[in-house]
Amino acid sequence: MAATRTQDVAATRHQIALLQEAGADLVRIAIDSPKDAEALVEIVRGVDVPLSVDLQENYRMAEVVAPHVDKLRYNPGHLHHHERGKPVQEKVAWLVDIARKHGCAIRIGVNAGSIAPEYKERFGGDNVAAIVACAVEHCDLMDAFDFPGFVVSIKDSDPRLVVEANTRFAEARPDVPIHLGVTEAGMPPEGIIKTRIAFEQLLARGIGDTLRVSLTVPFDDKGKEIEVGRQIIADVENGRFRSVPPNFFDGLNIIACPSCSRVENEKFIDLAEDVKRMTEYAAEYDLTIAIMGCRVNGPGETDDADLGLWCGPTTVNLKRGEETVGAFAYDEILDKLRSEIDTLIARRS
Ligand code: SF4
Repeated sequence: MAATRTQDVAATRHQIALLQEAGADLVRIAIDSPKDAEALVEIVRGVDVPLSVDLQENYRMAEVVAPHVDKLRYNPGHLHHHERGKPVQEKVAWLVDIARKHGCAIRIGVNAGSIAPEYKERFGGDNVAAIVACAVEHCDLMDAFDFPGFVVSIKDSDPRLVVEANTRFAEARPDVPIHLGVTEAGMPPEGIIKTRIAFEQLLARGIGDTLRVSLTVPFDDKGKEIEVGRQIIADVENGRFRSVPPNFFDGLNIIACPSCSRVENEKFIDLAEDVKRMTEYAAEYDLTIAIMGCRVNGPGETDDADLGLWCGPTTVNLKRGEETVGAFAYDEILDKLRSEIDTLIARRS
């Protein structure tokens, strides 16, 4: 996925070329606004790799971008943001019409960090059941609309949930192609280990048709995601499996988004690395800290963490679980975070 701002046409073209050179077969671009869509028209002129667009909350942009791309990704958990009175089925029917008209494939991109409210209500705290049911029911919609050109992804930052949910989905719909990913896996090496844990188990069971590795790395190092993905595939094909390091799931867990065009301040990548360094002293404590690059997914995807940071243009928002602590300048946030960690540790001991 291109991590650059979509409206920065030159940087995004450069990013696409970098990913293609690293071996990407398909590149995804985030589109949130008519200005992003205008930029996309410019971007595709210089590009010869298949493109997918990520519609996120703004599913109506599909109409503008579909003539220029090969695949549309919608997140069922974001369809309620616009036209709240309109039933989800109608919105999906509209997306299918657009995709059919322009020869696009569709990815139903379900994410445990943004579960659609109706599924949250139906399944309470059982996130796996909720996301599997959501994926299966959106497949039923595709069937009802007689649209076979779709793929499903079910992602989370915890590889164990990714394995369980994808295994259950594959049992329910063995006919549907699956795109694999561990989202917000974070920085190497932990981000690579989390991804490997999920992909090795799923690919070895024959689950997974396409994949994406999500790592929090500088934009110019994004080729690393492709390199890691291809290495995991080659290892599984050759029967080489790396064991999970002992106690990998114990202690501090840092979740960080891989960044995309929605990143509101490029200091996000440095901040993620600073948080990793600063929190080394707390490595043995069972704490989850989430760091997200934007306001689109930041507020929701930090809810399940003990402490969450989501980045705005000039400030970073700090959360304690679902509760907001406040917004702090980029040069203040590490101290604030440290004090929250110390309080949590003191309370637990
Ligand atoms: S959290 Fe925001 S910036 Fe990060 S990958 Fe998700 S949408 Fe992009």
